[in-house]
Amino acid sequence: VYFLPEIVLSLEWFMGSAQRAEHAGTKYQFIRLNDVPGLMVIFSPAGEVVSANDQTLQYVGQSIEEFRDWSENNVAHPDDMPAALAIFTSSLASGRPYEMETRLRRFDGVYRWFQIRGWPVRDGDENITQWHGLMIDVHDRKRAEEELHRSQAFLADGERFSQTGTYTWVVDSSEATFSDETCRIFGFEPGAHVTVEMIRDRTHPDYIATLHGVMEEARIEGRHFVYESRLRMPDMTVKYIRVASSTERNQSGELELRGVVQDVSASFLADQAMSKLRSELAHITRVSSLSALTASIAHEVNQPLSGIVTNANTCLRLLTTDPPNLEIATEAARRIVRDSNRAGDVVGRLRSLYSKQHQVEFEPVDLADALREVLPLVDKEFQRLGISVRTIVSEAASTTNGDRIQLQQVILNLLRNAADAMSGVNDRQKRITVRIEEESAAAIRLSVSDVGTGFSPGEAERLFEAFFTTKQTGMGIGLFVSRSIIEGHSGKLWAENNDGPGATLNIVLPKRLQGEKS
Ligand code: ADP
Repeated sequence: VYFLPEIVLSLEWFMGSAQRAEHAGTKYQFIRLNDVPGLMVIFSPAGEVVSANDQTLQYVGQSIEEFRDWSENNVAHPDDMPAALAIFTSSLASGRPYEMETRLRRFDGVYRWFQIRGWPVRDGDENITQWHGLMIDVHDRKRAEEELHRSQAFLADGERFSQTGTYTWVVDSSEATFSDETCRIFGFEPGAHVTVEMIRDRTHPDYIATLHGVMEEARIEGRHFVYESRLRMPDMTVKYIRVASSTERNQSGELELRGVVQDVSASFLADQAMSKLRSELAHITRVSSLSALTASIAHEVNQPLSGIVTNANTCLRLLTTDPPNLEIATEAARRIVRDSNRAGDVVGRLRSLYSKQHQVEFEPVDLADALREVLPLVDKEFQRLGISVRTIVSEAASTTNGDRIQLQQVILNLLRNAADAMSGVNDRQKRITVRIEEESAAAIRLSVSDVGTGFSPGEAERLFEAFFTTKQTGMGIGLFVSRSIIEGHSGKLWAENNDGPGATLNIVLPKRLQGEKS
């Protein structure tokens, strides 16, 4: 038994206690007030200072006389004084020990944090004879705590502003530790006890398999994961989250999955809105190029038509005069014929644009090259849509005769249609396979396969009708024009449903033979 310094001041109590200790065969030791590792003050039951150890007086830089007036002498920080006094006096009244943290002024005017504890000493009749106060310097700990609070507040702010939370999960345990922000993202109360069950309940059904996969793989030390997931909130709204974590051993040697969870709903939705905008824009571009074409056709045909009307009116007028002016009327009629031919030419030219007779601009075209030039045009768009394109080009020659630009337009159209057909696909990898292979000794085949919706059986031919479309914003002329182009190249274009999901559009074109003139 160690007797604390009250022994010195309460001899009677010490004697009694020492006798009791001896009686019980317990060793005791005497400790002086100045040997206590802290500032020690003895108060009377009424709260007056009876004594203070040297450490106390040295710290405050006062004599015992000065220190007696501690409540007036600004020993405690002015901000802490009222509370300290209130606690002290209420303990004196109730006889219950007190404990507080207060800044005390050092001899040089510097305030340091102290933990102050006081307890009553009672005699054999349970009457309080003294109060002992012990003050321990906890300044450094307090500072560290403040620092910790500050950095925790920084972290919490950082988590809140970046909508990124942190979490840890001891592998195979039933609970996880979520930061407040992670709780907020998941819609749990901050500081909630989060169970694996709660996480599973909150995960969107489509992503439960992902969650289980991660929990399974987390058993392997050093594993890193970055994955996307979705949460289904109680009000059925969906949140998009990105999670990055890794498995490491914690201080207790257990495998622990630690990571960050970021709420990416806003950017996900913005991306979606952006791509919708982009495809609408693409549609407008397509439509406006069509209307530009229409406008120029109208203009080209209109000019000769108005010429015809003017000349016909002149002709009528000249023929109805008396006598009729045959010479000039004949001239007007000639002009009518000329303008009619011109209008006919415009229409004929348009028709021949996609017809077999249109043999202009034919040159050797290597389909593999043509394809390679087209792919970069859709690269970005497909990446955004999560579509990968695989090209399989067989060794055999893949050169045909044709109009390179027109053939590339056809390929582009087939790629875009394939992408459109997969827009609703979520349960499988969105992939387009383009094959270029030998169809026969005289023909090459280029096929574009997707894993999209395919088309209704029996509709394989309807797809090629002008204005046939199943898309809300479609025009239904892509395949119609594509087929005209391919037929203009003495080739064939047809569609078939795949054995598995999706459709394949096939083009067969004549091979360019060795030494053939284009
Ligand atoms: P649009 O793309 O404007 O609808 P198209 O003539 O290019 O016009 O296509 C006509 C229709 O053919 C499409 O609306 C679609 O129903 C169908 N189609 C085209 N390509 C595919 C494909 N790869 N898979 C399934 N259906 C397709």
